[in-house]
Amino acid sequence: MIKAFIERVLPRKKAVRVEHSGKALGIHSEHMSKNAVYVCDKLQRAGFEAYIVGGAVRDALLGVIPKDFDVATNATPEQVRHEFRRAFIIGRRFKLVHVTFGDETIEVSTFRSNRGGEVESDATGRITSDNVYGTQAEDAARRDFTINALYYDPGKDVVVDFMGGLKDVEKRTLRLIGAAETRYREDPVRMLRAVRLAVKLNCSIAKATATPIRQHSELIKNVPPARLFDEIQKLLLSGYANATLAELRKHGLAEGLLPLLDLIYQQPGGQKFIELALDNTDRRVREDKPVSPAFLFASLLWHQVVKRWGEIEAAGEHHVPALMLAMEQVIDEQRETITLPQRFAGITREIWLMQPRFEQRNSKAALRMVEQPRFRAAYDFLLLRTAAGEVEQELTDWWTHFIESDPDIRQELINQRQRAQARHSTAPAEGSGRRRRSRGGRGRRRASGGADGEPSGAPGLGE
Ligand code: ATP
Ligand code: MG
Repeated sequence: MIKAFIERVLPRKKAVRVEHSGKALGIHSEHMSKNAVYVCDKLQRAGFEAYIVGGAVRDALLGVIPKDFDVATNATPEQVRHEFRRAFIIGRRFKLVHVTFGDETIEVSTFRSNRGGEVESDATGRITSDNVYGTQAEDAARRDFTINALYYDPGKDVVVDFMGGLKDVEKRTLRLIGAAETRYREDPVRMLRAVRLAVKLNCSIAKATATPIRQHSELIKNVPPARLFDEIQKLLLSGYANATLAELRKHGLAEGLLPLLDLIYQQPGGQKFIELALDNTDRRVREDKPVSPAFLFASLLWHQVVKRWGEIEAAGEHHVPALMLAMEQVIDEQRETITLPQRFAGITREIWLMQPRFEQRNSKAALRMVEQPRFRAAYDFLLLRTAAGEVEQELTDWWTHFIESDPDIRQELINQRQRAQARHSTAPAEGSGRRRRSRGGRGRRRASGGADGEPSGAPGLGE
């Protein structure tokens, strides 16, 4: 603690301003968003300093196409807002300005400082408020990694380096600015960022930055759940989710972060399920296809739901109500670590609730189900469960055939199922969602295996 205090009060390694030509470094204003360049230009013409900063500069230098652009300036948020037609001040404690151009938002922040004594922190050293404006050098020193503390002036085509970031770009190394322990205490999310960025950028993590992670992983528990959700979402939608989760586990960061992950990995088939889900998402992200966070969370939490579902059913609850109870319990428990926003949680629930309804193939309900807005997501989820060996291929193939068919053929497919069922009337009926399972043994039938009852017993799907 004392060490942390001294590190906070004493100035960090002296920031020395070094300028390099962008051209010599192989970057150019054309690598940047036109809007970000425009924002810098407009602010500079109004007499302020303004630079593209952080991830975009780093990515461009490392040969990665930057996606989002941040601008840092010595103008206050009010001064920034004044310069643009569509600019909004966001944040109460720490104010930022969002300047919007159609789909693109450029985030403009005023140089901030981390000066000892002027920031508020909690008992663990976590910074809870750092709304102190500062110089550009101070702004560089409060950033997380050296390669994230580079500024690019697109007008002058100059890269400004205070913390030795360019050397680390060359070495493809992520290195925390300042003493790792203090920086992780200030903001434990930096541990996740280190791992996420190392995977995304194909960089190594400097030893002094990597080593303390395991020892400080518990600090993640102090991070507010909503913030953690944002970070986890970024991680899962990075296009490298599978590799990143594997790295997080190596650094001892997965436990406690996503408690469900530990459980999943322990369950037979669980790891395979998650890997398939994440591979699928990674592929889509890299192909620039839309991915649904709700679908992803449905996948991540599914095995916990299945486990709980089985337990509740074994205790005597009916099939579908048991699923509903299990869903609520799992979502509630998850809320303690990572808050799943309501808008996602609703879709996640719908995807889960449709799963037992896929068992019901011999009634008109199948026709109605296909019309539901979440059908596609629920069907994709069924494909995932099938690939993981949880659902019989035959059932999924039937649905694939069903949705690819014209309406009259669809009706005929249902009739066929009805006729087949009549012929085998001694066999257990498919899908009665309401029937109580016989206890003992069989665990969940895959896709749970039975009985096409009238699915009106499956509530909550917005019919
Ligand atoms: P990404 O590729 O995920 O966008 P990024 O580094 O750009 O990575 P942002 O969240 O966009 O991440 O942050 C922009 C910049 O803000 C970072 O490059 C870094 O300079 C600074 N920053 C972000 N998070 C932190 C943090 N936790 N502590 C200190 N500085 C941070
Ligand atoms: Mg960024």
